[in-house]
Amino acid sequence: MIYFVCALSAEAAPLIRAFDLEKRRMPYRYEVYESRSEAKVRARLTVSGIGSFHASCAAAFLFGLYPPGPDDLLVNVGLCGASPAFAEAQIGTTFQCGKILAPDGRDSVYPAVRRDIPFRVAALQTSDAIVKRNAETEHSGLLYDMEGYSFAKAAAGFAGPDRILVVKVVSDRLEDVRRLKPEEVYELLAPTALKFYELAKQEDLSEKARSQTRSEHWKARARKIVSEARVSVSMKDRIFSRVAYISSLLEAYRPSEGDLEAGALYKAVEYAFSEAEEAVSAGRFVKSVQNRFLEAIEAAAEAVYERTVVTTVRPSDSAPFSVLYVEEAVADHPRTQKICAHFPKADVIPIRCYRDVFNRSRQEIGGFWHDHAARALVIARQENIHIYPGAPMCQDHGHRRFYYASFVMNCLYDCEYCYLQGMYPSKMPVIFVNPEDVLERIAGLEATLEPSEEAYVSVSFDTDLCAFEGLLGFVDCIAKFAKEHPRILLEVRTKSAGTAIPIVENASLSEDMPPKNLRFAWSFSPEMVIDRFEHRTAGLEARLSGMTRAIRAGYVVRICFDPLLHIPGGQEAYELLVDRVMQTAQEAARSIGRNMKDCVADVSVGPFRIGSDQLAAMRRVRTDSYIVLYPYEIEEHTARYPKEIEEALLQAVRARVATYVPEEQIFCWDSPVKR
Ligand code: SF4
Repeated sequence: MIYFVCALSAEAAPLIRAFDLEKRRMPYRYEVYESRSEAKVRARLTVSGIGSFHASCAAAFLFGLYPPGPDDLLVNVGLCGASPAFAEAQIGTTFQCGKILAPDGRDSVYPAVRRDIPFRVAALQTSDAIVKRNAETEHSGLLYDMEGYSFAKAAAGFAGPDRILVVKVVSDRLEDVRRLKPEEVYELLAPTALKFYELAKQEDLSEKARSQTRSEHWKARARKIVSEARVSVSMKDRIFSRVAYISSLLEAYRPSEGDLEAGALYKAVEYAFSEAEEAVSAGRFVKSVQNRFLEAIEAAAEAVYERTVVTTVRPSDSAPFSVLYVEEAVADHPRTQKICAHFPKADVIPIRCYRDVFNRSRQEIGGFWHDHAARALVIARQENIHIYPGAPMCQDHGHRRFYYASFVMNCLYDCEYCYLQGMYPSKMPVIFVNPEDVLERIAGLEATLEPSEEAYVSVSFDTDLCAFEGLLGFVDCIAKFAKEHPRILLEVRTKSAGTAIPIVENASLSEDMPPKNLRFAWSFSPEMVIDRFEHRTAGLEARLSGMTRAIRAGYVVRICFDPLLHIPGGQEAYELLVDRVMQTAQEAARSIGRNMKDCVADVSVGPFRIGSDQLAAMRRVRTDSYIVLYPYEIEEHTARYPKEIEEALLQAVRARVATYVPEEQIFCWDSPVKR
C-alpha cells in the first residue's frame, strides 16, 4: 500500500487516475481517496492544501486514521521550483529528495534514497512562501517547495526513512512563477504517477510471493493464534520466536519435492497448528495446550536443524555505494575527495553531522521498501575520541591493559551473527577521515604504562579495516604507527584475503621487517559457515592465502576460531578446519625457515556469545536468520548455546588446536559467569 499526500487537487489528479482511487465520504477537513475494494494495487491519498501547517496536519490525519503497516510507503508528491544553478533541473524533471531543509534552515530530514525508481536525487528547501530568483536562490542548486519538510517530519513519526519518499517535479526555475492550469499540472505529474503505479504493482507481486511461502503462512497463523487467544506476553514471544526459528530453518533447508522425511516434518507442524487453532476457537488454548504446541514446533525444529545443509548461498547485496553522505566540514579533506572519486556515480548529500543520518529511528527494518533502498556510506570526522577498555565479551589474550579503538563504524562484510547489527541504529558504514587523531590518543596510553607493561589495542573490532584498505589505507597508517610505538601491541582482526596488508618486498631483515607489535588476527570458519553466514567475506582459501602471505612477509599472526557456531556436523567440520589452518601456517613458517611459534603468536578459541540486548535488537532487523533466531540460553545478560553444546564444541576445537601449539599459546574465552 502506498499513502500519498499532495498539496493540491490538481497534483493529486494524476495519482487518483493512475490508481483508480475513489473518494470516501467523511466529515473531515481533509479529503481521503482510496483504492476500490477489488483493486489489486492499493493506495490511499489525501489533499492537504498549501503550506507546511496543512502538510503536517494532513499527513498526521491520514496516518493516524489508517496507521501504516510495516510494508507501506508514505509519499509526498508535488511541484517545485528549481534554482537556476541546478542545470539538470529542467521543467518536467522528477527528483527524489535525499535531503529536505526546514524553512528556517535549522533542521534537515534525510529520507533514504531509492534505487528502484529512476528519479535523480536532489536537496529540497521547504519555504513558508513562494520562492523567487534572488542572489541566494540563484546559486543554491536547491529545489524549493512549501510542504516537503513538514510532510517528512510528520511521516517520520509513523515509518522509518526507508519508507518515506518526497518526490518533486520541476514546474519553474524561480522566474515568472505563475499559477498553472490544472491540465498543465496533470501533464507534468502524470509520468510520475504512472511510475508509482508500476512500483506498487511490483510490491504487490513481491508481497504475494512472500505470503505464499510455507514459512510466511505459518508466521501469519501464529500471529492469528496469539491475537485471538489469551496468552501471556512471554508465551506470545515464545510462540513468535519458535515459529520464526523453524520458518528460517526451512528457508535454509529447502527440501526437494519427494523428500519423505521433510513431508513428515511439515505434517507434524501442520498438525500442531491445527490443534492449536481448534483449541483457540473452542476457547481452551490453555497452558498445557500452549506448551504442547511449542514442544511440537521445537521438536520439528530440532529435526530440521540436523538436516540443514548448505544448498544455496543466500544472495548478498554487493552493489557499490550509490549515496555518499558527507559532513560539510570534511567535504574538502583529501580522503573525502579520494573516496568520492572512487564512487563517481554516487549522489553526494552534504550533512551537518553524521549522527543526523546514522541515528535516524526505525532504520533497517527490512521488507520490500528497505530492500530497494540505495546503499549509502557516511564520511565524517571523529570528535571526542575515546580509547575504550576491552569488553568482557572479548578475549584479552592475557593482557591486563586491553583496549579498543574505532576508525570506522560498521563493516563492508555482512556476517549474520555480527553484533554490530544490534549495536548501531544503522548498517551504513561511517568512515572517519582523521585516523591520525585516533592514533594520537592511542599513543597517549604509553605514558600510563608501567615500565614492564605493554598495552594491547584492538583497532578493528567495529569493522574489518583490511576490507576497507584499498579505499582508505588506514592499515598502512597503523603499521607505520606501530613501528614508532613498540610498547603498544595493535591487533587488526580480519576475514579478508589480506591482499592490502602492507608488505615490503625484498625487505632487509633488520629495518624493513614488519613491526612485531602489529598483529593480523585471521578469523577462520568452516566453508559451510562462510557460505551461509559470513556474506561478502573472503572464502576460506583466500583467507589462508592471506595468512600465508603475511607469515612469509615476516608478520607474527594470530589465528582465531571464534565464534564457534553450532552447525550440523559442526564438531567434525571445525576439527577439519583446525587441521587445514594450522597445517597451512606450519607450511608458511617452514617456507621461510622458521618455526610455528615464531610466526603464530597464539590461537584464540571462543563460543558464540552476544549481549541479550544486542540479540534482541538483531532479531528485529534480521528476521530470517536461523543463527539469530536460535533459542539461545540467556545468563547474566549474555546469550549462549546450551552448556552441553557449547562445551562439546569448545573442548573438541581446543583439543585439536593443542596438537599443533602448546597449551599456553591457546586462549579460550572464559565467561565471567560460571555455568
Ligand atoms: S567481519 Fe566482523 S565486523 Fe565485519 S560483519 Fe563480520 S563479524 Fe561484523
